[in-house]
Amino acid sequence: MDAAPVDVVDRATVIEVLSDRCDAEAKHPAQAFVFAQMPDGRSLSFCGHHGAEFMDGLIAAGAIIIDQRHLIGS
Ligand SMILES: [Zn+2]
Repeated sequence: MDAAPVDVVDRATVIEVLSDRCDAEAKHPAQAFVFAQMPDGRSLSFCGHHGAEFMDGLIAAGAIIIDQRHLIGS
């Protein structure tokens, strides 16, 4: 029987950001819970609200994403 190949991925993702504050807010930025590394090397940080708002666009842009929104409120 020919089984389909299986890719097993267990890779630690590291994104280096300038701060852990939301990049979408100029004043009083909230704590960031979504971090994205863009294909061009830029890194971005977003709070839960903006992370959710930009998530589809980040994925579409091919960004590597660390989503820590499950930590909100903990
Ligand atoms: Zn924000």
